[in-house]
Amino acid sequence: MERGSLTIITGCMFSGKTTELLRLLIRHIIARQIIQLFKPNIDNRYDKDKVVSHNRTSLEAIVIPKDNPNMILELIGINTTIVGIDEIQFFTPEIVQVCETLLSKGVNVIAAGLKQDSDGRLFGSMDKLLIISNFITNLTAVCVICGEEATMTQWKLEGPLKTGQIVVGGSEDYDAVCHKHHKVI
Ligand SMILES: [Zn+2]
Repeated sequence: MERGSLTIITGCMFSGKTTELLRLLIRHIIARQIIQLFKPNIDNRYDKDKVVSHNRTSLEAIVIPKDNPNMILELIGINTTIVGIDEIQFFTPEIVQVCETLLSKGVNVIAAGLKQDSDGRLFGSMDKLLIISNFITNLTAVCVICGEEATMTQWKLEGPLKTGQIVVGGSEDYDAVCHKHHKVI
C-alpha cells in the first residue's frame, strides 16, 4: 500500500492554522474523501465537538484525551482516507507513532499545531512531526506592537501568572509578536 502523506500546518497563535486546516479538509470533502477530525482535550474527556476557525467555518471533531492519542487508531473508520488533527502539540509523544501508523495504512494526515510555546521552547512532539512530514505550511501573524510579521506567541505581561506550558487561552491571554518584541516571562 502506498504510504500516506503528512501535512503540518504550524506558526504562532493567531496565524490562521485552524482556518487553513479546515480549508484543506473541506477541499477533501468536496473531492468525496472520507475525513475524520480529532482534537485533544486537556481535561481528558472523550466527546464530540466542533473545530471552529476565526472565520466561523466549522467541522465536527472527535475530542480525545491528550494522554491517549492511540484512541485515534481505535476510532478511525475503515473508509477514512484523511485524518485531520487540530492542536496536535498538546498530545503526548505517542502521537508520532500514531501518525506513522496512519501513514503506513495509506491514510493522509493533515495536522495543525504550535511549534513553540510562549517562551520560545519546543511544544510537544512538533520537532519529530515536522521531521517526518511531507509538507509544511508555516503561517505568520501580525506583531501587535510594530505590525511586522509575527512568528512568536507572547504571554501578556499584564495577564494572570502562567502556571505551565499548557495554558489554553485566546486573545485575552496571548499576543502574536515579532522576534524583536518577544519577551520570555
Ligand atoms: Zn514587533
